[in-house]
Amino acid sequence: MAEKIKVTNLVKKYGDNTVLNDMSITINEGEVVCVIGPSGSGKSTFLRCLNRLEEPTSGDIEIDGTHLMAKETNINKVRQHIGMVFQHFNLFPHLSVMQNITLAPTDLGRMSKTDAEKKAVSLLETVGLADKKDALPGSLSGGQKQRVAIARALAMNPDIMLFDEPTSALDPEMVGDVLNVMKKLAKQGMTMVIVTHEMGFAKEVANRVLFCDGGKFLEDGTPDEVFNNPTNPRTKDFLDKVL
Ligand code: ADP
Ligand code: MG
Repeated sequence: MAEKIKVTNLVKKYGDNTVLNDMSITINEGEVVCVIGPSGSGKSTFLRCLNRLEEPTSGDIEIDGTHLMAKETNINKVRQHIGMVFQHFNLFPHLSVMQNITLAPTDLGRMSKTDAEKKAVSLLETVGLADKKDALPGSLSGGQKQRVAIARALAMNPDIMLFDEPTSALDPEMVGDVLNVMKKLAKQGMTMVIVTHEMGFAKEVANRVLFCDGGKFLEDGTPDEVFNNPTNPRTKDFLDKVL
């Protein structure tokens, strides 16, 4: 299996606060990795470092063999291969669903408007929102907005998808639809890193679970290993609280 993401000795500090404390992890093509852990443990910071939305203090990150921090690396080019979905959707409120999805591919000159719209229609079918292409985000439910956000991320044909608590801001009845879209992506072989509190989803869909605490991965194993036989007492402690 090809290495997609290789993180070596990643450190991130905010002033004196060491948020990521010497993390090393390799994620292979097609892996679905769920990152769990307490609030403030560095999960979002880790994810954001993977496309350099945060600047690491030190360490090395390779995406498909490209060193993210190297001077000669064109970070915007790397980012085109990485889709990111946030807790709060971040859709453009004044643009229709269709325009939200086609904006990046047409703006970057990667696709003609016609091709981008064709692709958007097929993505909207994938996420179950074919009838919403002309809607404005404000008229959609949270779950629908998040599915549009996923379609928008997929419009650039990424080969890695990063999710930061994609269902945390949703009403419970919306969560399933979003998780089902993510499950579909996982089945298609997408490399995915998902920060989530959905332990059921992690158990069912992830091939690997990382437990993050204090800016370190204290656990790295299959869902069965991490949920049923954690090696670190802090993992056990965390799971006792959330399960
Ligand atoms: P998690 O996603 O696991 O809840 P975060 O990665 O968001 O954790 O945050 C980890 C730590 O980094 C927290 O202590 C948080 O306060 C701190 N932090 C995050 N972003 C910033 C920032 N921009 N400036 C200063 N501190 C930050
Ligand atoms: Mg977070």
